[in-house]
Amino acid sequence: MSLKLIEPYLIPAPAPLIGAETIQIVVLREVLDYTVLRTEETRELNTVYTPLSIDDGSPTKRVAFLGTKQKAPESRELEHLLRTANRSAGRTEPDCYLKDNLCLHCPRCGLFGATAATSGSQERANIKHRIEYSTAFSLLPFEDIADEITFNAINDHTQMTGQALGSRHVVRPVTLFPSIVTLKSVTRYEFVLTVKTLLACKSYGAETRTQGECRNTIVGIVAGWEEVMTPLELTLELYNLDGGDPAGKVAPLVSDKYKPLAANRDQVTVLNVEQVEALVSECSAMDLDKGFLDTAYKHVTEYRGKQGVR
Ligand SMILES: [Zn+2]
Repeated sequence: MSLKLIEPYLIPAPAPLIGAETIQIVVLREVLDYTVLRTEETRELNTVYTPLSIDDGSPTKRVAFLGTKQKAPESRELEHLLRTANRSAGRTEPDCYLKDNLCLHCPRCGLFGATAATSGSQERANIKHRIEYSTAFSLLPFEDIADEITFNAINDHTQMTGQALGSRHVVRPVTLFPSIVTLKSVTRYEFVLTVKTLLACKSYGAETRTQGECRNTIVGIVAGWEEVMTPLELTLELYNLDGGDPAGKVAPLVSDKYKPLAANRDQVTVLNVEQVEALVSECSAMDLDKGFLDTAYKHVTEYRGKQGVR
């Protein structure tokens, strides 16, 4: 039971008033197709200047994978997962979908948060998210990972290529984005659902018709009474460590350098690489059966009860 390792940082049932229990899931997001990472208005990739590495302050342009661009596909992935798991377990639940039909009664709404759309006085209570995303920064500089792709229209009759319609800026395949997903005061059910969602979610990017494929690998789990490390620090540190498998580097790095900086140092638990693997494996092997779903949904109903919403 690897979940025992993080037991002190899990709560028995979710509540509107949260505590300090924090679990950081360190994820390597590996882009596996040409992927557009930009905000809607421009053709440019989202970029930002950062230091080159933790020891080298040279201004370096990196591609930014915004937190919102990670959160939206993962929230949808969890929605899809719950819908199919409910069907498979013979359960029926009201429809819940983004963006204006959130049910406020399912584990997705409970974890990702939801705004009440109806105007009844009690129903107006929103659910605050307890899963947090922040911008991930490309491991390598912009010049090493960005491409401009020109696209043309082909006449189906003549098979002639017309003039270029335009171009879009994309991130090349095999680009790595070290990222951290942070859970605040969550239950073991919510932790398991988060891990399953991260492993399952593969489509990201701005273009809905040509979404980029991406694989998430969980390479670290850090628990404490606070966030111990940020994604920018993670990228700058991993750049310095240069090459090899980052999975084995995260735990020693956090233990040796970032845990001592924590406000509540003795409360910080850093799982080693074997423990991370075992915990992730335990979560992926867990069935989303009727018992699991009944409890996870009951938790959200009780949460709403604590808010005074039936
Ligand atoms: Zn919902």
